[in-house]
Amino acid sequence: MRCDRLWTGARIATLAKHPGEVGVAVIDNGVIAASDGRILHVGPASEAPALDAVETIACDDRLVTPGLIDPHTHIVHAGDRALEFEQRLTGVSYEEIARAGGGIVSTMRATRAASEAELVASALPRVDALIAEGVTTIEVKSGYGLTTADELKMLRAARALGEARPLRIATSFLGAHALPPEFQGNADAYIRIVCEEMIPAVAAKGLADAVDAFCEGIGFTAAQTEAVFAAARTHSLPVKLHAEQLSNLHGAALAAKFGALSADHLEHLDDAGIAAMARAGTVATLLPGAYYFTRETKAPPIAGLRAAGVPIALATDCNPGTSPLTSLLLAMNMGATLFRLTVSECLAGVTREAARALGLLGETGTLEAGKSCDLAIWDVESPAELVYRMGFNPLHARVWKGR
Ligand SMILES: [Zn+2]
Repeated sequence: MRCDRLWTGARIATLAKHPGEVGVAVIDNGVIAASDGRILHVGPASEAPALDAVETIACDDRLVTPGLIDPHTHIVHAGDRALEFEQRLTGVSYEEIARAGGGIVSTMRATRAASEAELVASALPRVDALIAEGVTTIEVKSGYGLTTADELKMLRAARALGEARPLRIATSFLGAHALPPEFQGNADAYIRIVCEEMIPAVAAKGLADAVDAFCEGIGFTAAQTEAVFAAARTHSLPVKLHAEQLSNLHGAALAAKFGALSADHLEHLDDAGIAAMARAGTVATLLPGAYYFTRETKAPPIAGLRAAGVPIALATDCNPGTSPLTSLLLAMNMGATLFRLTVSECLAGVTREAARALGLLGETGTLEAGKSCDLAIWDVESPAELVYRMGFNPLHARVWKGR
């Protein structure tokens, strides 16, 4: 079999799911062959077909995993909220800051004032921090523009990140993130703009891979969220939702009703929400960075999610207000320390289940023949080391689409 590139001597965690598997299965002395950016063969050297490679790369027993995937970020934004952080240290709550015109709205002002090029330039250092950890796919949301023109500008900036760097970008339109001040007291009128103007414009330009919303007391009601989802469905866009972060508005069950790819945060998720997600195959995307940064004390119902077989993904939620986190490795450590996820759950959460949460499992997230050859090659002995250390990056090399 002819191939462009062949990686040999690898200890491979394919993350492909095998029934009854406990822990992370690792193939010793494995090989990965790729051509035209796709995996042709992966498995133990002893079982490989004869492989004739243009280039052979010795992995010297390093651990190889799928390239990591960050399935929930607000990485495109202008400005920062370091001053609010300082206020929060003196005891002011997130809700108080939001109601006083801070929070999301302060980032909205900075983002509206920035050009598309400025948004790209300011996001790239954060993107580069993720790339340095072996990340090959990043989800990026809009949601700080909150006008049609500014939301489109954010989504164009998000797409441009994938042209500036070797990286797969999945975009989510999040017009229903916060109520812009010009619509104060008239959220329904704003939601009409989201549904009748923004979603059609975003769909017409092909700028979003999904539609997201923030269903919360300081965001939008379940009824408003449902209107957004209905508009998304009209334009054949899949949905996802910020749900049950600060309270239980039964957003996860609503998202599941619309076949959502994922429901995210979920600290206040109840049993009915878990059951609805399990039935719909909706991924639970957990955001331990936001939990940590806001000093939340109620953890998502991990045991219930596990028992119901709801897939669990992990993300940075990189955003300037509640999770200024640009390390997916640290998010894995937090998933373990704060939520008691296992090593296997943490690693699957940033590979296979993260791909599932983006509707990209056919393309990436596991090492299997036919998928994009997205690899992270690590200077570690065991998968546990990727979760165990804090603030240490053992990446040896990163491969995206075979290069
Ligand atoms: Zn978010």
